[in-house]
Amino acid sequence: MKTVGFVYDDVYLKHDYPDHPENKGRLLSIVEHLTNSPLKDKVVYVKPRRATPAEVALNHDPAYIQEIKEFCDAGGGFLDPDTYATPHTYEVALHAVGGVLEAIDRVLEGELGRAFCAVRPPGHHAERARAMGFCIFNNVAVGAHYLRKRGIGRVFIVDFDAHHGNGTQRSFYEDDTVFYFSTHQYPFYPGTGSADERGAGRGYGYTLNVPLPAGAGDKEVVPVYEKLLPEVMERFAPEFVLVSAGYDLHADDPLTHLNVTNEGVRRIVRSILGVSDELRAPVVFALEGGYNLRALGECVLITLEEMLA
Ligand SMILES: [Zn+2]
Repeated sequence: MKTVGFVYDDVYLKHDYPDHPENKGRLLSIVEHLTNSPLKDKVVYVKPRRATPAEVALNHDPAYIQEIKEFCDAGGGFLDPDTYATPHTYEVALHAVGGVLEAIDRVLEGELGRAFCAVRPPGHHAERARAMGFCIFNNVAVGAHYLRKRGIGRVFIVDFDAHHGNGTQRSFYEDDTVFYFSTHQYPFYPGTGSADERGAGRGYGYTLNVPLPAGAGDKEVVPVYEKLLPEVMERFAPEFVLVSAGYDLHADDPLTHLNVTNEGVRRIVRSILGVSDELRAPVVFALEGGYNLRALGECVLITLEEMLA
């Protein structure tokens, strides 16, 4: 059995907005499900650190980072029609990145075998100089750059959120050292993620999008993870795997139209872990979407169960 870290801190609750789907209730549900489960004594609780602006600048324009700080200091508001910031959001977002970096550090040091980062705000829509889709800083993209900086040669990002991770794709589109693999409802927000977006220059062939029509369920989604993903990962031979774990692929999610069940989520997670283990690549999950609070709590528990198995 592997040592599994669970990264969480109450600081993540300070980014909140009434009646917005991306609210603190999401993490409260995850923590409640974990607290009421026998898994609560099996995971190792890890506190995030505060990422430095220089670390965030591995993926973001320094002027954008400063702009977010000033926007929050001035009281916050909406950065785009979907994406709010409060006076606390800058600090919370630094800790969301820092949660992923702390997990990576502990895995590289051998203290943890795997980790799940219950962080927010989410990250995969955030571009180099633009907040969008509830995302401020791209937690997973900063993590991938950080891994490269720490000497990891090849990083594989798996994104099973129901939305395409336009920000993450953009960050590594011309990069052959970070592979981006995504399944998502398509056409749908944010509009990117067609199968012919495959990377450019040296990065051509290192982006793989599997767009799925509205209504696709376990029958369509699970085989992508049980058949295609292992082939692609084996070819790339990653040294580290980051997962953009968005649970809005669930059938009960109010914002999306995929129909993946709890059992489908279990099989997806199991396959990601199985092929990563075969390749001896450690895995760090970072929370992205998931807006049905019950389904989110249940699916994160399922993920932790599989990680502990
Ligand atoms: Zn999503």
